[in-house]
Amino acid sequence: MLNIKNLHAKIEDGAEILKGINLEIKPGEVHAIMGPNGAGKSTLSSVIAGKEDYEVTDGEIFFEGKNIIEDAPEERAHKGIFLSFQYPVEIPGVSVTNFIKAALNENRKANGLDDMSAKEMLSEIREKSELLGIKKDFLSRSLNEGFSGGEKKRNEIFQMLMLNPKLAILDETDSGLDIDALRIVSEGVKHFKNQGNAVLLITHYQRLLNYIQPDFVHVLADGKIIKTGDKSLALELEEKGYDWLLN
Ligand code: ADP
Ligand code: MG
Ligand code: MG
Repeated sequence: MLNIKNLHAKIEDGAEILKGINLEIKPGEVHAIMGPNGAGKSTLSSVIAGKEDYEVTDGEIFFEGKNIIEDAPEERAHKGIFLSFQYPVEIPGVSVTNFIKAALNENRKANGLDDMSAKEMLSEIREKSELLGIKKDFLSRSLNEGFSGGEKKRNEIFQMLMLNPKLAILDETDSGLDIDALRIVSEGVKHFKNQGNAVLLITHYQRLLNYIQPDFVHVLADGKIIKTGDKSLALELEEKGYDWLLN
């Protein structure tokens, strides 16, 4: 599904941050990327999603066999790549529901499909929101306006379930994960996951991986993947930290 080869990227006019990343993700897999603060984890997720603050200086990103390096972020989204928003923007006057309806129909249109029928949309929204314990009044609130950390997280996972991407990239900040948020993310991922899609979970802490069992754990440090293992690697990192890997 995703095949990253020798990926180098830098900030516009800045230092190189990604220094030769190789990563292959197949359908059905959950990959976790861990690593010290500043390693380049969020940069990697941004570069996969195509955010324009970064410049790819070498290497390739293949998604379903096609090189997507030249694709704009929207095109990548239409192809089925979803990135959770680390710092979501507020959109006053646009409700949670209207935002997701528009995003979903835009995705469908880009893939040659008609708008989802109002009836099907309603039933989708009902099913996904109930699953995440989202109440009706939340759905009609302005997007992200005054949302608490838990509400932002619910909205993000709601968007993921509604858009039903092929590859979901969840970049979990170190601070945003209280018990409530952990439960939302892990329930959401369990519901989302099937043999045809994949998850790339980026996290600073091992705790989330007690809830979501990854097939592969990668350690990213100084812009490179320096170690790959199975879920036992996450436990080892929890116990020993990163220092033993860094020399
Ligand atoms: P992580 O998510 O692993 O903590 P980041 O990808 O956020 O790491 O950051 C990697 C390095 O790149 C850090 O040194 C950070 O300061 C720098 N960096 C990332 N994005 C930017 C940016 N837009 N402008 C300036 N520096 C950046
Ligand atoms: Mg960071
Ligand atoms: Mg980060």
